[in-house]
Amino acid sequence: MRHSDVLVAGGGPVGLAAALLCAAQGLVVTVLEADAETAVRAGSRAIFVHGASVGALAKADPDLAQRLSNRGLTWGGKHTLWAGRTVYRTSYPHPRCGTTPPFTCLSQRDLEAELRRACLEAGVRLAWRTPVESVTVGPGHVEVGSGHRASFLIGADGARSTVRTAIGTRLAGTRSDASFIVVDLADDPAGPPGDRVFHYRHPAAGYRHVLTAPFRGGLRVDLQCRPTDDIAGLTADPTAWIAPLVPRGTPMEVTWVSHYRFHQAVADTFVDAGRRVLLAGEAAHLFAPFGARGLNSGIADATAAAEAVADGLTGTVTRAEAVTRYDTVRRAAALRNRDASAQALHQLLGTDMSTRARQRAAAIAARFSTATGAWLDRIPYGPRDAGIPGSPY
Ligand SMILES: Cc1cc2nc3c(=O)[nH]c(=O)nc-3n(C[C@H](O)[C@H](O)[C@H](O)COP(=O)(O)OP(=O)(O)OC[C@H]3O[C@@H](n4cnc5c(N)ncnc54)[C@H](O)[C@@H]3O)c2cc1C
Repeated sequence: MRHSDVLVAGGGPVGLAAALLCAAQGLVVTVLEADAETAVRAGSRAIFVHGASVGALAKADPDLAQRLSNRGLTWGGKHTLWAGRTVYRTSYPHPRCGTTPPFTCLSQRDLEAELRRACLEAGVRLAWRTPVESVTVGPGHVEVGSGHRASFLIGADGARSTVRTAIGTRLAGTRSDASFIVVDLADDPAGPPGDRVFHYRHPAAGYRHVLTAPFRGGLRVDLQCRPTDDIAGLTADPTAWIAPLVPRGTPMEVTWVSHYRFHQAVADTFVDAGRRVLLAGEAAHLFAPFGARGLNSGIADATAAAEAVADGLTGTVTRAEAVTRYDTVRRAAALRNRDASAQALHQLLGTDMSTRARQRAAAIAARFSTATGAWLDRIPYGPRDAGIPGSPY
């Protein structure tokens, strides 16, 4: 039996962030990851790391934060169009050397590689090919089936979490009917950062909504599909329709194509009855990706989980108080994030006539009113003040 202060189930971005933040508090941490070290997951997945997330990681490892800022890119600006006409446009100031940018865009694979490196440098033990299959909470410890024991277990094992099932909680929520197609195109890793472009009713996409967002080395394209669309046909060959939707000169090298429907779900509770297990990231909640709440709220969970574990171990407060506070604060944040994602989704899908009418009226008014254009620019991502005070997540 191997002993640690903290076990982390799952070596995705949230598990690695939690492990790093616990190690920074002087705790002995082991990450148990089901996959092999060499496993490669397809696609860019989460590409937008908010400055608040970089700032949280900086408290554990300032070099990591600097590397993430340098390795990712900050968009040149934001550009919103309605049926071919600009309704809002703004630029980001060029980030000053040595400062934390408002956000950094890189593929989730690159983020995970940097987090792994930081974990190893901080002395975190990474156990590959070690799936957590069972969880037993005893009076003085928590034990997982793979022969590991600790004072606490952070369950960051993703949407199909074994830890969540083992502690008897479940995700409750909905899934949208509408499908989105997401395509990654390769882009010049050294090229200047382009704009994030949201195009309502893009004429070259049959008046569907299209989002394009650059990240280091690639360009993400999101196409909002109609219920009648042939998803299999559209995903089979994106080069047949994508060229008019991206800036001229973008290489037509597709590196990933996928389609998804949005889940909006939050676990009944984020902790176990014995107050030794804490769920974080997608083990605890699923949100529609517009607004980038999945990864960023997961890092906020990781921060709060590391604080709770450290408080419980040092006796700053009792273990039960620390874990219960985690549940209260992070579940409330998850519910606010879910509601914010639901608002974003409502605006994107525009399924009711009054929403569509307001958007159309705003597109006309945006000719004369920057504030109205800014509203159109903002609404596909939901309200910004969704999370706990001091953090947008
Ligand atoms: C196609 C796609 C596109 C996305 N786009 C965006 C986006 O644009 N913006 C955004 O914010 N988010 C996006 N997301 C969501 C984002 O990727 C997640 O929020 C993020 O990955 C959650 O991290 P996590 O660590 O909680 O879970 P995961 O990344 O799922 O990591 C869980 C880890 O646990 C491991 N594991 C699973 N079961 C076990 C077990 N029993 N024992 C041990 N280990 C286990 C898995 O192998 C994995 O490494 C996207 C996700 C996908 C799939």
